Amino acid sequence: MTEHACIFCQILTGKIPSKKILEEPDGMAIHDVNPQAPFHALVLSRTHVNDMAALMDRIGGEAEAGRLMQMAVRVAARAGLSENGYRLVINTGENGGQTVGHLHIHVLGGRQMLWPPG
Ligand code: AMP
Ligand code: ZN
Repeated sequence: MTEHACIFCQILTGKIPSKKILEEPDGMAIHDVNPQAPFHALVLSRTHVNDMAALMDRIGGEAEAGRLMQMAVRVAARAGLSENGYRLVINTGENGGQTVGHLHIHVLGGRQMLWPPG
């Protein structure tokens, strides 16, 4: 997928509107348009990268991944989810259920999550 056609790249540049939660140099957190829990946010990588494996191939990728995780934890804390818990999810590839080929972390909370996931 080219950056031009990527829906999350277009959200990051403001071409497609979104409900923004947090913006930092490494990424942007938005509300998911189709929430699967009372609170469902996405932390989008600032730069176009398909998935975690592709990010790990980049110089400094592991530090960038760490900062994106920090963002996800911060988003959860700010949403008041720290005490009762929440779920961070990175769907990867077809079997992983990834539908948008631009790295993002789901932050889900506000209800009891089930295990195993579907
Ligand atoms: P995944 O299936 O893990 O790739 O997650 C993609 C997520 O992006 C889904 O939860 C969608 O609901 C969400 N999504 C798709 N388009 C938008 C959009 N324009 N704004 C916010 N979230 C979106
Ligand atoms: Zn993209």
